[in-house]
Amino acid sequence: SNFKDLKVVDEIVDALGYMGITKPTNIQQAAIPIILDNKDLIACSQTGTGKTASFLIPIIQNCIKKGENENYALVVCPTRELALQIDQQCDGISYFTGISSITLYGGTGGDKFDSNRKALQEGVNLIIGTPGKILSHLNLHPEIGKRIEVFVLDEADRMLDMGFVEDITRITKLLPNRKQNLLFSATMPPSIKDLARDILTDPEEISF
Ligand code: AMP
Repeated sequence: SNFKDLKVVDEIVDALGYMGITKPTNIQQAAIPIILDNKDLIACSQTGTGKTASFLIPIIQNCIKKGENENYALVVCPTRELALQIDQQCDGISYFTGISSITLYGGTGGDKFDSNRKALQEGVNLIIGTPGKILSHLNLHPEIGKRIEVFVLDEADRMLDMGFVEDITRITKLLPNRKQNLLFSATMPPSIKDLARDILTDPEEISF
């Protein structure tokens, strides 16, 4: 199959083409229709499978109807490097859509906290970052959390290994109960199943 068969819109198919991405991977074939349909999803997947684009493509597509400054999705991931990689793919995939994104991460010395805070207040569609820094910003601006419609936990097992479970729980409490929730994890230990039970509503399950 191709991205058009998966009902991906032309402006995203074209952007993917410029990125050299023409054929959906297995996880993309499974995840894109589920996420476009606004369902919750738990996906067992390794890096290198195309998992990042498997959630970014449908999130960006569902976000097209939103205004440029309206909050839409929150993506939480374990490291600065991963946040930057997700944001880079987001910029590529959303190139023809006018969708905006910001990355929030800690531990980099020179602090961008104030400029990020200003950008957040001006409004951004996709917020991508690490748990501690996201929590700091959402605590200062709970109204942003209340507007989130899609919540993604990427590499959830690594986040639990790194001790982020309390931050994740606190973030979740700042978000609306009714939203779309997506959880990606390379492994599915009991701790992840517990987290999934707390956060997801009637999720579709896929494994690659
Ligand atoms: P990920 O599994 O998300 O870490 O992605 C691994 C790499 O595969 C990234 O560099 C993506 O740009 C690339 N990629 C994602 N989807 C595809 C695809 N359908 N075809 C070829 N490369 C892809």
